Amino acid sequence: SKQLLAAYQQGSDEDYMRRLQILQALPEAISARKLNLHYQAKLCCRSGEVLGVEALIRWQHPQLGVIRPDEFIPLAEQSGDILRVTRWVCETALDQQQYWLEQGRKLQVAINLSAIDLQDEKLVEFIRQQLEKRKLAAANLTLEVTESAVMADLEQAQERLAQLRHLGVKIALDDYGTGYASLAQLKYLPVDELKLDQSFIRGLKDDANDRIIVRSTLQLASQLHLTTVAEGVEEQSVWYLLQEMGCDTLQGYYFSRPLAAQEFEQWLGEQAL
Ligand code: C2E
Ligand code: CA
Ligand code: CA
Ligand code: CA
Repeated sequence: SKQLLAAYQQGSDEDYMRRLQILQALPEAISARKLNLHYQAKLCCRSGEVLGVEALIRWQHPQLGVIRPDEFIPLAEQSGDILRVTRWVCETALDQQQYWLEQGRKLQVAINLSAIDLQDEKLVEFIRQQLEKRKLAAANLTLEVTESAVMADLEQAQERLAQLRHLGVKIALDDYGTGYASLAQLKYLPVDELKLDQSFIRGLKDDANDRIIVRSTLQLASQLHLTTVAEGVEEQSVWYLLQEMGCDTLQGYYFSRPLAAQEFEQWLGEQAL
């Protein structure tokens, strides 16, 4: 079956059994709403103001414990369950955005799409309906797609991203710098935001090469009128370096880890003090 095939990769028998268990539990977890979202702040690099959140999926399984997205998302991609996961994420994140709006908090919300989602012909209409249903402005939704997902089928991605962007949503290129997009290709991609991969940000203080790469990428991006985001900011000194380099937006443990909605609201309340 599809599940068996998706579970079969290199590794020990225990790994295989765990992957199989995850795949078998996933459809039920989606329909029984056992997945949940955590929210990590995205902040203005200059002022430190909270601009919005990225929704990150979490799954606490009664027997298997915490299953990290890095583990189950690739499996869901192979089995095809990812389409339902993405729809659930979209609906849940937009419900949350609407709730926050009612509370007087305007927050940009970002969700992650996978390469498989870009092949989904019904995705654009689905997102349009979800926004319309809640009377939410498309411009306040960001869709994050990894650079490698885009490069896997550049033409397909270009077309789908253009359709999505036509709705008015923002498109972010995630994990930038790891997926081998050339500058020429970047120029023709319908993208609003460039998210520099954490691997460059972590080395920023100590590695002169990372500083050169980040500085020139930020310059290039601003010339292409792209908003720049640095993720994985864990120290104040890295914030200041990025500020000096002209980065627009920051994300990282230094400010906040991804938090459950209520914890995030509490954290946000403390920021205003
Ligand atoms: P990503 O989209 O690149 O998300 C950033 C990851 O870095 C998150 O891990 C986040 O918790 C972590 N992170 C944020 N700030 C820091 C920091 O300062 N230091 C360190 N060391 N890590 C930081 P997470 O939540 O485990 O997600 C891992 C990946 O799983 C995501 O990478 C994304 O590719 C995927 N993912 C998560 N949620 C979803 C989802 O709803 N749909 C899809 N398709 N993929 C998702
Ligand atoms: Ca992301
Ligand atoms: Ca990323
Ligand atoms: Ca990543």
